[in-house]
Amino acid sequence: MPLDPKRTVAELKELRSLTGDENGAQRVAWTDTWLRAREWFAKKLAELPVEHHYDAAGNNWASLAGESKKSLILGGHLDSVPNGGWLDGALNVVAALEVFRRFASEFNGRPPVTVRLVDWADEEGARFGRSLLGSSAFAATHSVPADRVRTDRDGITMEDALRRCGIEMGRFTEAEKERQNAAAYLELHIEQGPVLEQLGLPLGVVLGTKGVERHSVTFHGQEAHSGSTPMNARRDALAAAAKLALEIRNIARKHPDAVCTVGSLKTFPGIVTAVVGRCEATLDQRDLDARILAQMFQEAQDASRRFADEEKCTVEWSRIWSIEPVPFHPALLDLCEQAVREVSGTAHRMPSGPLHDAAEVSRAGIPAVMMFVQSLGGISHNKIEDTREEHLEMSVVAFDRLASKTVDWILRS
Ligand SMILES: [Zn+2]
Repeated sequence: MPLDPKRTVAELKELRSLTGDENGAQRVAWTDTWLRAREWFAKKLAELPVEHHYDAAGNNWASLAGESKKSLILGGHLDSVPNGGWLDGALNVVAALEVFRRFASEFNGRPPVTVRLVDWADEEGARFGRSLLGSSAFAATHSVPADRVRTDRDGITMEDALRRCGIEMGRFTEAEKERQNAAAYLELHIEQGPVLEQLGLPLGVVLGTKGVERHSVTFHGQEAHSGSTPMNARRDALAAAAKLALEIRNIARKHPDAVCTVGSLKTFPGIVTAVVGRCEATLDQRDLDARILAQMFQEAQDASRRFADEEKCTVEWSRIWSIEPVPFHPALLDLCEQAVREVSGTAHRMPSGPLHDAAEVSRAGIPAVMMFVQSLGGISHNKIEDTREEHLEMSVVAFDRLASKTVDWILRS
């Protein structure tokens, strides 16, 4: 059975009609629709000579035993955000299935190294706000005590929701067993941003996932009457926060791939007749270079103090969350570049702003790399998320080539 990229597109459409509605994909992890997607996928796997099981964190593993126990892992996630797109996560899994079929037929069911496919559980964290859940169990970077008591909108705890799907969070560490013999990890994904489309390129080589500094920044001023308080007597916390919201754009612009975002501003008392006494801002800063990220964080802190002084306010910082940048493996980056170049003529290297399961795998010390395919309009996590069919097909061909090159690399190293 030779590689058939058109079948990947057809199967993605099949999945879309099975698990989507007029508002988009509804494959939120730990819901019935997600389980239906997984059943659909299990049926596809059953047609192949593969061993298939769910690990202790709910990750779905299929393995095609090879001459060597060393394994190449192809990964993705069938779960989506509510009202999500048809390709985010699903392309990775369905394209990997096609590559799997090609390996199975080309080597009579026994490739030179073991080839494994994983559908990670709950990449999106859409229901409980905890992304990369299954891959973090695999990588031993999970946070079970904090996560098990998380609740969804209906007050159901994560622990109960997972138990309903047959997963005991107390046994998460058993998922680490799957790391045995893992030699390389590959993930294909839609870009979810506008860069490749702007460059007119179908495919990209992903350098790594950006590190994130996410903080809450609170300015304290003085709540006062908007009619009686002269302009020069005000301690306006919003004014200080607003200056910071503009300044972080200058901080980010000094570096080509850096991004800084103030995503939320809350004012107190938040009424039309009062000067803002307290303003709570959130700041999200990302870059692939840890030094740049640290520098931007320092600059934002310095700026916030300067603006607080100017507005006769004080400022207080508290970390919401952070993760270090995860650069992908240099040898695999080269192989990915070769594969992309062979299929599309040129290869553009770019960092990923969004986090992906590949980052967790890489943090576990397993060589990893990702390939991006262009997203139309750079839109994702939305029902209008789309990619040209010819680009989807090219991505399957390039990903298949990358898989073959990586098998050779595993044999050599
Ligand atoms: Zn995704």
